[in-house]
Amino acid sequence: MRASLVAIFVTGLIAPSAHAKTQSAEQANTASERSCANDPTWTAAQAPFQIYGNTWFVGPRGLGVFLITAPTGDVLIDGGVPQDAALIEANIRALGIELRDIRWILNSHAHCDHAGGIAQLARDTGAQVIAGAADAALLARGGHDDPEYGDRFEFPRVQVTLTVTNGEQLRLGDLLLTAHSTPGHTKGNTTWTWTSCDGMRCLPMVDIGSLSAPDFQLIGNAKYPNAVEDFRTSFAMVAALPCDIALAPHPEMVDFWARVAKRDQGDVTALIDPTLCRTYANDSRETFEAQLAKERADAASAKKPRP
Ligand SMILES: [Zn+2]
Repeated sequence: MRASLVAIFVTGLIAPSAHAKTQSAEQANTASERSCANDPTWTAAQAPFQIYGNTWFVGPRGLGVFLITAPTGDVLIDGGVPQDAALIEANIRALGIELRDIRWILNSHAHCDHAGGIAQLARDTGAQVIAGAADAALLARGGHDDPEYGDRFEFPRVQVTLTVTNGEQLRLGDLLLTAHSTPGHTKGNTTWTWTSCDGMRCLPMVDIGSLSAPDFQLIGNAKYPNAVEDFRTSFAMVAALPCDIALAPHPEMVDFWARVAKRDQGDVTALIDPTLCRTYANDSRETFEAQLAKERADAASAKKPRP
């Protein structure tokens, strides 16, 4: 079963029709957060492929959904929007992996574009769902009463079977995953790290939790009074991570598709960039501080603050 992975890896990379279709969809992708229904790339087909070692891309073109394989069972990170469950399941099967081999589904954060498909995926695989402790309640109510979005982006309710806090490690056979709490985008936003090996070369892998604050009310939000401190802690946390291959819930956060394209053209190390976590964290911090300063200035000048 596992022997078929290599063959599918090659097919996935060179499938021209899949590329042509998804490139044009990607160009329409300009904002990081929006309704779960209106970004075509979030449901666009993408052939699954090997990222590095036992780490595979199994999502739609516009959302990071990752499969980490191990002899003792496999781990899925995130589940896309609700409509993505079938696409993700088909991608997993296309790699020669049975759905029942998925033991855990990890969540990066409780928003509809990353947790939307998890309820169905958990049902169909029988996997345990693991998430940051501070997101468990928001997952259980399906995004209802989100501190920043209210009820704008609801999704099928997710029952979390195991919660993690900062620094907790999960072991599945010889696979070790570490949860890093990176709150702000949601209270339980989690950056996951693990190691993947290609032969003898083992690299630290990171799925960076989103550090953006799109349309957020950062100050005076009674539902999230510590948002600013949380974001600042998270910028420092992500910047300091050992990070040879950076992945993300939104591929554009780490310029993923441009790197994949370079690799497809023969640059075998195009996905390896130990500076990327730091760069993403620092860029996010800059954007955040500017957004915060504007929010403060707007409030001070007695303009109507954002709702
Ligand atoms: Zn989000």
